[in-house]
Amino acid sequence: MKTIGLLGGMSWESSVEYERIINTEVRNRLGGVHSADLIVRSYDFDAIEKLQAAGDWDGAGELLAADARRLQDAGAEILVLCTNTMHLVAPAIEAATDVPFLHLADATAAAVIATGIEAVALLGTRFTMEEDFYSGRLESHGLEVVVPEAANRTVINDVIYNELVQGQIRDESRDRYLEVIDRLVVAGAQGVIAGCTEIELLVTPDAVTIPYFPTTRIHAMAAVEAALAG
Ligand code: GLU
Repeated sequence: MKTIGLLGGMSWESSVEYERIINTEVRNRLGGVHSADLIVRSYDFDAIEKLQAAGDWDGAGELLAADARRLQDAGAEILVLCTNTMHLVAPAIEAATDVPFLHLADATAAAVIATGIEAVALLGTRFTMEEDFYSGRLESHGLEVVVPEAANRTVINDVIYNELVQGQIRDESRDRYLEVIDRLVVAGAQGVIAGCTEIELLVTPDAVTIPYFPTTRIHAMAAVEAALAG
C-alpha cells in the first residue's frame, strides 16, 4: 500500500471526511485492522482564505508547493489536495513534486463520464465556478459544464464561506442549493457536481433527484484506488 500525502484543512470540516472515507475504504478492501498510510498537512484555513481574498494565487501556490514537497520528502508516494478551489494552483504543486498528483477535476470527470452524462452542473466557490482551471479541465474531458447565473453563484459561494467551512449546516441553505440545482436542470444539466468539498456535508446524494457527484467521496476513493494499485 502506498503512502498518501494529504494537503488539507481547506477546510478541516471536509478533510476529516477524506480521512474517514479513505480509512474506511482501506479497511473494507484489506480487512482486519488495516487502515490507510497517511501523512497530513492541515492548514489554518484563515491564512488560506486571506490569500484567496487578496487574489494572491502566486503566494498560495508557493505555500502549497513547498508543503507538497515536504510531504513527498517525508515519504508520500501520492499527493491529494483536499479542496477543489485550491486546484487553481495545482500547476505549482505539480512543478515542485515528482510523485503522482491526483487532480480532483480528473477524478470527477471520470466519475461523470462513467454514467454517460455529457452536460453537468458545477457548484463550488466563486473561484471554482468562474475561473477556467476547473471547468476547463472538465471540458478537456469532453464534458459540457453548466454553472449557476451570477446571483445564484453568490448564494452558493456565500454559504460555503459563511457557513459550511465554519461547521454550520442549515436546512434553509440546503433548500437554496436545491432550488439552484432545479434551475440548472432546466438549463440543461443532466447531473450535478458538488465541486466544493464541504457541499456534500449540506446536500447529501439522497436529497438530489439527478445524478450527483460528491467530490470529497470521489477524490478519496480515487486516492484509495491509487494507493492499492499494483
Ligand atoms: N473546500 C472548498 C473547495 O473544495 C472550499 C474551501 C477553499 O476555498 O479551499 O473548494
